[in-house]
Amino acid sequence: NRPTIFFNEPLADFSQDEQLEAMQEALQLVEDSLGEEYPLLINGKLIETRAKLTSRNPSHKKQVVGTSGSATKDHAVQAVEAAKRAFKSWSRMDPSLRAEYLEVIASEMRGRRYELAAWEVYECGKPWADADADVAEAIDFCMYYADQMRQLTQPLNADVDGEENSYHYRARGVAVVIAPWNFPLAILCGMTAAAMVTGNTVVMKPAEQSPVIAAKFMQIIRDAGVPDGVVNFLPGVGEDVGPVLVNHPDVDIIAFTGSRAVGLQINESAARTTPEQHSVRRVISEMGGKNAIIVDDDADLDEAVVGVIHSAFGYAGQKCSACSRVIVLEPIYDRFIDRLKEATESLVVAAVENPAAWMGPVIDEESLNRINDYIAIGNEEAKPLVAKEVGKLAGEGYFVGPHIFTDVDPGSRLAQHEIFGPVLAVMKVKTFEEALDIANNTEYALTGGVFSRSPQRLAKARAEMQVGNLYLNRGITGAVVQRHPFGGYKMSGIGSKAGGRDYLTQFMIPVSVCENT
Ligand code: GLU
Repeated sequence: NRPTIFFNEPLADFSQDEQLEAMQEALQLVEDSLGEEYPLLINGKLIETRAKLTSRNPSHKKQVVGTSGSATKDHAVQAVEAAKRAFKSWSRMDPSLRAEYLEVIASEMRGRRYELAAWEVYECGKPWADADADVAEAIDFCMYYADQMRQLTQPLNADVDGEENSYHYRARGVAVVIAPWNFPLAILCGMTAAAMVTGNTVVMKPAEQSPVIAAKFMQIIRDAGVPDGVVNFLPGVGEDVGPVLVNHPDVDIIAFTGSRAVGLQINESAARTTPEQHSVRRVISEMGGKNAIIVDDDADLDEAVVGVIHSAFGYAGQKCSACSRVIVLEPIYDRFIDRLKEATESLVVAAVENPAAWMGPVIDEESLNRINDYIAIGNEEAKPLVAKEVGKLAGEGYFVGPHIFTDVDPGSRLAQHEIFGPVLAVMKVKTFEEALDIANNTEYALTGGVFSRSPQRLAKARAEMQVGNLYLNRGITGAVVQRHPFGGYKMSGIGSKAGGRDYLTQFMIPVSVCENT
């Protein structure tokens, strides 16, 4: 078999002058290009719409990043039809040629790395390092799936005398990609690249909050020379176009990343079949998490504090992988809590064009209100440990400081609901077994972690912790393509892991051929 040739894209280091300056220049360039319009793209044609989506900078809510078209139900139908028309020739193309398209797309993103990261700073309130990591991950997805597709076309050697056997994959058809705003390029690109390279054609529906970075990605796909109709760009309001896309009889796959409520709704409506349908729709759905880190009584506290803070408050907790519960063994509890408090209070919360911003704003007003509601619930149900004020920033953008609550009841709302913001619930336990029970006492199973020096306890966590991605003695966010294939189960998702070796096969139909010779 052909060996895998894949390397992760290195991350930027903004302590280096050259990289710092490149990013500053990119931010200036983006600032000079704010306020432009980005139409839909269906079958290679730009389409203006009467309704628009306005994308705002979460750090400075008055600043408009750009406006995109907002698709109607008719546009959604047109986009599916365009994808269907493009399917025949795209699906019959040599898979290694489709892989080459992904490599061209990756190379273009590599060349525009800082610019794309700068758009994320403006559109999604991502601190620089997070924005950079998102672009690097998008490049990784393209390069990894290109490589994987080539692997999957290797012949299977299962011939016997008088019988020639082959096993190969076919594309399923039209894929609808519904993406979130929190990894606005990586996840959109990952799902789209997987669908494309496997020979499906795509209707790409970005999140309402991040249509501009998605439009940049669409342009890169076009510039790479991908034929018209293979990827169609359909920004719009989810409630309007989502049901049309999900229920269209010509849609074969829905790849979704987002909230549990929407994911379950999609799964349910996709399962309903009509007489016009030619296949049972396949749903790949990446949903929420209520992820826990256990801090054992012998844990290295320096590492545990940093790991918990990064996981809980990185990108203001707006990752489905984020740590929202920390379960601490009694003997170490007081020391851990003191240090966690001090370290959290020292975090710099600021508008993210500022390179010193460790944490920026949350995405929009709706998120801010939801998070503030949970903080109010925390103040009722538990004991506040940290409630960092954001001062003047509050009027400027959608800011909320990091919050930590202790004495949280494991069955309470704070310990059970996904908040998707910088709110951390702390629980004290007497034994490691109790810690595992509490960690597993959630409907979700996405990420989780343990800080411990005990090989027995780490082994127990490996065996018993119900998560898709378990991290030992490190933070629980920031899965890297190929090294940490990412995805959960229970109410966290259906389907295989993004950036892992089983991901592409979900987008295809395996066919076995046996010839009597
Ligand atoms: N893959 C990301 C991580 O490991 C999380 C993705 C998400 O939030 O959807 O942190």
